[in-house]
Amino acid sequence: MTVEPGSILGVLGGGQLGAMFAAAARRLDYRIAVWDQDPDAPAHRQADYSFTADFSDLPTRESFSSLVRAVTFEWENVPVDLCEWLEQRHRVRPSSAVLRIIQDRVEQKQFLHSNGLPVVPFLAIGSPDQLTETVARIGIPALCKTATSGYDGKGQWPIRLNSDVDEVARVLRAIERPPPRWILEQLVEFERELSVLVVRGADGECRTYPVVENRHEHGILRMTLAPSTVSDQVAAGASDLARQAVALLKGIGVFCVELFHAADDRLFINEIAPRPHNSGHYTLDACTVSQFEQQVRALCGTPLGEAKQRAPAAMVNLIGAEMQAVISGQGFKELLSLPGAVLHLYGKKVVRPGRKMGHVTFVAETREAAAESAYRFMARLAAVSAIPPV
Ligand code: AMP
Repeated sequence: MTVEPGSILGVLGGGQLGAMFAAAARRLDYRIAVWDQDPDAPAHRQADYSFTADFSDLPTRESFSSLVRAVTFEWENVPVDLCEWLEQRHRVRPSSAVLRIIQDRVEQKQFLHSNGLPVVPFLAIGSPDQLTETVARIGIPALCKTATSGYDGKGQWPIRLNSDVDEVARVLRAIERPPPRWILEQLVEFERELSVLVVRGADGECRTYPVVENRHEHGILRMTLAPSTVSDQVAAGASDLARQAVALLKGIGVFCVELFHAADDRLFINEIAPRPHNSGHYTLDACTVSQFEQQVRALCGTPLGEAKQRAPAAMVNLIGAEMQAVISGQGFKELLSLPGAVLHLYGKKVVRPGRKMGHVTFVAETREAAAESAYRFMARLAAVSAIPPV
């Protein structure tokens, strides 16, 4: 059944992903109800109806539910029980069952591993006291991560030396509200990080965007090169794994599958985001149909859009104070006069280190030209960010 234009779509979470979903939905003549506790969250400005209570607030559940025809979420840390409750009344895509698997890194990795998909060796840790013995089994170097609620490199502790083990155990013990468990993974010396956007409809039809290449800094996405420079064979392997993972999940919606590409061409799935992803922002400017329009289409049951890239692109995130450097005076002129630059600002009022404030996509005729603009931009960005604002 199609949810027709004019209907109200609900989105849980109101960050930039929710805002871009709402913008795409409005263009298709849907109305939007945004639920995010933060009244300054970017998606509220795109909303026809805004809810700012805590997700546990029962009267707000009722009023949100009484408005919407279908519900999606913009990040995976929304409460599963809320999705289950909404699912008894409405279409929720992706489903709460998918969310439950993805929300917990241990569940997610076990799901992938038990279905024969390649993941790096991992073990669950129930308490900081188990760290030493678990490191002994996984080996060094390793990476300890919170099983739930981690993002943008938060809640991750590398263990590169024997002496790191006690230090990390101390950090875990000092956490005020410890998560139910952690995951310890082998730290891969990968060649590059890749990601694949998969759109899957209710009838099982699957479309994948080209494989892209991601560079991170301090666990935060710095830039995406689209498409990646990997060989056709590696790209086909990555797409295939991504499609398989989403099909096994029976996921409906937009998914981003992140992978590590090792020097010997082996691929490992790192994680799956059950929603549009930062590495897919280039689809707004360089593809026929963006990841956000696909999210609307998959939710509403309209035919999926063409997942075709029309021009090479490179995307650079504006993180923390970099945004001010870009929009102030000379920096703005210089940076944005680079060829192919398209600016996106999220309108977040509070600037915090590591916070994603916007992004710039460079669209060009060749991959090399797009990458060159992006690298020039980053070099200038580093220079102007170092100058204190007057
Ligand atoms: P995640 O939150 O799992 O996506 O991790 C954030 C970033 O940390 C990834 O994009 C990688 O750059 C790095 N990372 C995560 N897991 C591993 C691993 N097992 N080995 C090496 N690097 C990792």
